[in-house]
Amino acid sequence: MTSLTRREYQRKWYSEHREEQRQYGIKYRKEHRQELLAKKHIYNKEHSEQRIDYQKAYANAHAESIKVYRHMYYLAHREGIKQRSKAYRKTHKDERQINGHVYYEANKDHINEAAKEYVRLHRDQINDYKRQWAKDNPLKIRIVQAQKRARRKEAPGSGFSKQDFLDLWKLQNGHCYYCNRFMLLEAKNSDPLKVTIDHVIPLCKGGHHSRSNIVLACWECNIRKNQLLPSVFSGMLDL
Ligand SMILES: [Zn+2]
Repeated sequence: MTSLTRREYQRKWYSEHREEQRQYGIKYRKEHRQELLAKKHIYNKEHSEQRIDYQKAYANAHAESIKVYRHMYYLAHREGIKQRSKAYRKTHKDERQINGHVYYEANKDHINEAAKEYVRLHRDQINDYKRQWAKDNPLKIRIVQAQKRARRKEAPGSGFSKQDFLDLWKLQNGHCYYCNRFMLLEAKNSDPLKVTIDHVIPLCKGGHHSRSNIVLACWECNIRKNQLLPSVFSGMLDL
């Protein structure tokens, strides 16, 4: 039998008792958890600068693999991450709003500059998007435009929603309030039969921008009405 050096003996013993050692380590860490955590905390505090340097160096040296790892992690946990951030946004709504406001105030110039630059660089895409949106949402556009006109003329009234429009459309059965022809919901500007939001008493004559002062009229009647003398116009209201 060959005699072993102390070092060789130790190595042999460990390799034969590996599982026992592992179990012992697990048990020890479990029983001394608080103590070990306290030690770790003290160590981390005393070495905070070295640790930060080390972490920075590590992040720099492994930038690529960290990026890949993060992406893989995201892909594997996507649903959970999305749900957690949604829940977080919901429970921290006020806090986030305040933080956002504080951040904006502190970085206003920078943010506005960046936004302007973004618009400048993406002008064509933005215009395309706006055009497409207007095409897909003709009703909303007309309601928003009417709202803007009312605001510009400082007209009183409780406003006019998309639902109000749809209610009126149903009530009038899609027919013009004045000439009773069937109107078109989606038509080119200046198509005589295109539906318009008409203020019975015009805003310039003190009419309200509210459902009670609004009827749906074809484009032709709307224009003609605006050109009529007030006396003739009053006669039209009795129709
Ligand atoms: Zn008409």
